[in-house]
Amino acid sequence: MIVGDPKPIEEIAASIADFRKVLVFGCGSCVTVCRSGGDAEAHDLANQLSHPRYFISAPPQLEVHTIERQCERDLLEAFLKLPDGIDAILSMACGVGVQVVSDMVDPMPVFPALNTTFMGGADEPGVWREKCRGCGECLLAYTGSICPITRCAKSLLNGPCGGTGNGNCEVDPYMPCAWAMIYYRLKRQGNLDLLKKIRTSQDWRAAGSQGPRVRKRPGIGK
Ligand code: SF4
Ligand code: SF4
Repeated sequence: MIVGDPKPIEEIAASIADFRKVLVFGCGSCVTVCRSGGDAEAHDLANQLSHPRYFISAPPQLEVHTIERQCERDLLEAFLKLPDGIDAILSMACGVGVQVVSDMVDPMPVFPALNTTFMGGADEPGVWREKCRGCGECLLAYTGSICPITRCAKSLLNGPCGGTGNGNCEVDPYMPCAWAMIYYRLKRQGNLDLLKKIRTSQDWRAAGSQGPRVRKRPGIGK
């Protein structure tokens, strides 16, 4: 899932200060799970933003609405009801959702209420950790399903650096060394031979270095 953190309230207030009526728009998917941009957070934010201390003149009128996912145009078209008089949207979605909404309501301004931070998983209740950077050439089959690009502080592809010690990373002694985790996982799986294969450099073109990536469902034309 995509994890996002709320922007500082002052920054959010400054972005909407010049508008009369703003839709605070929650997203019911990832950001609801990590409790940064769902319906409850949208109502909380609207309550906070209704306080005059954040504005030089009167705060904008705020309305709250949430749909299941802002990153899908079909859902937006079906479920986004723009209340009368709205002249800007404050999106509680990730950066993807903000852009899809913005394309749909162009030229109405759409502002982000979150800083989108990473793709992660919940290892324990309420704690999400980054797991994938969408490199486009997944290596997990060779690394015991532990991502060295994301979870090694140096994104090393062929084993640990010289700083690994006692299973932890030299960059942060409280962080497990990804390559130690990979070694012990492969050992438990009886797959240590995988480590004998030297990996050549990653093809970073697949990671988006040639512009935004596109995937089309099979059967959809060029
Ligand atoms: S190897 Fe690439 S695609 Fe696979 S988990 Fe890591 S960043 Fe994601
Ligand atoms: S100690 Fe391990 S996780 Fe940290 S940078 Fe070196 S190889 Fe990567």
